[in-house]
Amino acid sequence: MDYGFKSNRPQLRRGLCYSNEGIKQAGSPSVIVIGGGIAGVAAARALHDASFQVVLLESRDRLGGRVHTDFSFGFPVDLGASWLHGVCKENPLAPLIGRLGLPLYRTSGDNSVLYDHDLESYALFDMDGNQVPQELVTKVGEAFENILKETDKVRLENNEDMSILRAFSIVFERRPDLRLEGLPHKVLQWYLCRMEGWFAADSETISLKCWDQEELLPGGHGLMVRGYLPVINTLAKGS
Ligand SMILES: Cc1cc2nc3c(=O)[nH]c(=O)nc-3n(C[C@H](O)[C@H](O)[C@H](O)COP(=O)(O)OP(=O)(O)OC[C@H]3O[C@@H](n4cnc5c(N)ncnc54)[C@H](O)[C@@H]3O)c2cc1C
Repeated sequence: MDYGFKSNRPQLRRGLCYSNEGIKQAGSPSVIVIGGGIAGVAAARALHDASFQVVLLESRDRLGGRVHTDFSFGFPVDLGASWLHGVCKENPLAPLIGRLGLPLYRTSGDNSVLYDHDLESYALFDMDGNQVPQELVTKVGEAFENILKETDKVRLENNEDMSILRAFSIVFERRPDLRLEGLPHKVLQWYLCRMEGWFAADSETISLKCWDQEELLPGGHGLMVRGYLPVINTLAKGS
């Protein structure tokens, strides 16, 4: 896709506007894609390949969004996404990664968890430098799961979506027995932070309706050794 800078609109002055206008024949349907993260770039590519005229608006001065490979050390460091979750042919990224010959470093296989999900590998410390007993971490983890189960009821009762944080506060209003104080409360906050880390979003922006709707693909996890940028570049330019 031959993108070029197109916009003079003030609100996009510091962003980018990519378009294949002019390449497509007049009369082909047109579409605007807002956001040049991997979802937007992949959508723009699919639409372009289906003969749409595409304009992609991106507020930053680069494509990729939460996919961002840094080369300032002379080698690729992914500051955002770095793993392919689900190394299998059903993964829509697999054909592209395979075609580009991008190597994956397998960090785990089927039925295993990533290191950062493995509670055994964690040691939590309080503000005084004392290690939080592992039994407490496990116990609060169970409490966190129970709170999540209660948020599921909130989800079923409400047609409108809300944030996971809002759902937590509803659960605590209804079930004060699930509230924790002191150190257990801090450990609970840590569990919430892990959830925020997983989604790369604050809990007030994580959707109650959708947070657990992702499809888990088989095949384990593979680290993109050369970074994710070639995937973004290829989707943006085509090959
Ligand atoms: C640190 C970190 C590690 C991660 N690790 C992994 C991993 O290993 N594997 C994995 O699969 N996923 C991982 N993820 C998640 C993955 O990066 C995201 O799910 C994915 O990149 C989201 O892509 P997206 O296109 O939906 O959204 P985004 O990447 O957020 O793209 C949205 C784009 O829209 C632009 N935008 C927003 N509003 C406007 C507007 N009004 N006008 C114009 N442009 C706008 C933004 O600037 C951005 O470029 C990680 C995320 C982070 C942050």
